[in-house]
Amino acid sequence: MKDGPVRILLKRFALACFLVDLHGTRLLRRMAGRRPYRLGGQCRLCAQCCESPMIQTGPFIANGRLLRRLFLAWHRRVNGFELLEHDRLRRTFVFRCTHFDPATRRCDSYAHRPGMCRDYPRLLLWEPTPPFLPGCGYRAISPNARRVAELLDAEDLPPETREELKRRLHAKDD
Ligand code: SF4
Ligand code: SF4
Repeated sequence: MKDGPVRILLKRFALACFLVDLHGTRLLRRMAGRRPYRLGGQCRLCAQCCESPMIQTGPFIANGRLLRRLFLAWHRRVNGFELLEHDRLRRTFVFRCTHFDPATRRCDSYAHRPGMCRDYPRLLLWEPTPPFLPGCGYRAISPNARRVAELLDAEDLPPETREELKRRLHAKDD
């Protein structure tokens, strides 16, 4: 379902709001001393992340009936996201994206994709253990990767064990 001109305009407006909110929130987090992982690797264009996009919301949207309906209506009508699952406990919504063609594995509105699609998977870098999809070409690199790698290099370990520990501790830099 390709976007028409009205949807494109709405999506541009939503993208501007999304970016202001995103960068503001991340700036505040950094000012509070939080440091995310760095993004390593590269996209393999497997399109797994388009198969069932997921959004985690705050408690008001997840639990408030009116806000939830508005949220879902926006995503259905503007972003083309149809609800598949809602997990109240985790406050997550899983969607089917009507812009995704499972045969070609392409997005039919890539130039107008929502901010969350543009940002993916950077959001995950703020998680304690970033949950990348299996086979995703990206990986998380710890802010202390170099120091951890140096400490592991100084230990008398079998090479496979050292490499495995570096991988698990996100200490493998590019
Ligand atoms: S799952 Fe990862 S590698 Fe695959 S398209 Fe999405 S970002 Fe790229
Ligand atoms: S809008 Fe495009 S990039 Fe975003 S989930 Fe749908 S198919 Fe993927």
